[in-house]
Amino acid sequence: MATASPDASLTSDESFVATSHRGLTYPFGRRTPQPGEAMTIAPGLGWARIALPGSLGHINIWLIDDADAAGGGVALVDTGMDLPACRESWAALDAGAMAGRRLTRVIGTHLHPDHIGLAGWLCRTHDVALWMTRGEWLTARMLTADQRDETPEEMVAFWRGAGWDDDQIAHAKARGWRQFGTVVTPLPLGYVRMRDGDVLDLGGRAWRVVVGSGHSPEHACLLNEVDGVLIAGDQVLPRISSNVSLSVTEPEGDPLGDWLASLAKLRELPGDLLVCPAHGEPFTGLHARLDALRDEHLARLDELYAYLDTPRRAIDCFGALFSRTIDQSVIGLATGETLAHLRRLEVEGRARRRTDNGVWSYERA
Ligand SMILES: [Zn+2]
Repeated sequence: MATASPDASLTSDESFVATSHRGLTYPFGRRTPQPGEAMTIAPGLGWARIALPGSLGHINIWLIDDADAAGGGVALVDTGMDLPACRESWAALDAGAMAGRRLTRVIGTHLHPDHIGLAGWLCRTHDVALWMTRGEWLTARMLTADQRDETPEEMVAFWRGAGWDDDQIAHAKARGWRQFGTVVTPLPLGYVRMRDGDVLDLGGRAWRVVVGSGHSPEHACLLNEVDGVLIAGDQVLPRISSNVSLSVTEPEGDPLGDWLASLAKLRELPGDLLVCPAHGEPFTGLHARLDALRDEHLARLDELYAYLDTPRRAIDCFGALFSRTIDQSVIGLATGETLAHLRRLEVEGRARRRTDNGVWSYERA
């Protein structure tokens, strides 16, 4: 199914040039929504941006024409975090593209704060329900409810398991436990559950829920087959790859296995969809991107396997996996990603894990 052609108002824009990125095409070129603006990129679908601090710089949110018992409005997908920069973006939208329009529902693709950080606030302000999958909803509620100040011993044991030294642990503890609740407004007590395969009727258009896992427990993408559009959240990003980490929450899990299975599942969708990612620009070339993401992980697994000729701790493997230097600011993310790869090798039967004095080491099986 062909994707919708870009909004006619864009064609006068000088930068309206499709650029290719490793087999990907960006139908809207360098044109991105300005503060307060929503670009119409498919029938009934608006693209807006919420500013984020840090290297990401923004999250894309999606405004879908919708109607409920109270009349016409907008179904919102993802929200931004509870930070001043995001609230400013919302003030601009309320004065711009959202002026005189009401929300009918808030849909969260997954639990990460840039996606649902303002969901509670928006649901209360507009008196509408939050729609999520159960895995994302429960995890988000659990994390926001965890208000303790002290870093739990289980967390410290996990870091020790990965090979962190006392300095690294002291540094991480000093940063404080659980920043999650500080950037997420209180969530409503109840929600509307979305299941894999559910079809949402949004303003007379059918959007099917396609669930993936590995980046988060039960991530919802939304597929409109008639117009050829996939709202992909963080499940497929065009320029960066999504973080896939083993965490203290589920240390015997296999998030990279889940992730690779999800990439294969999405690979069965049509190749000519307009993919609307949470970060970066809408693109076509879904299959090329999924293949590239899969190949990247498989190559890293092979390199890691080769490196396990002698027992290695997670922190010993950073150099084999990452080209950048891993300093204290990113050691948590790097550790989670490394453990996800090591755990995958273990599940595949290619590596064996040993525990000595609470420290895990991995060796070729
Ligand atoms: Zn995410």
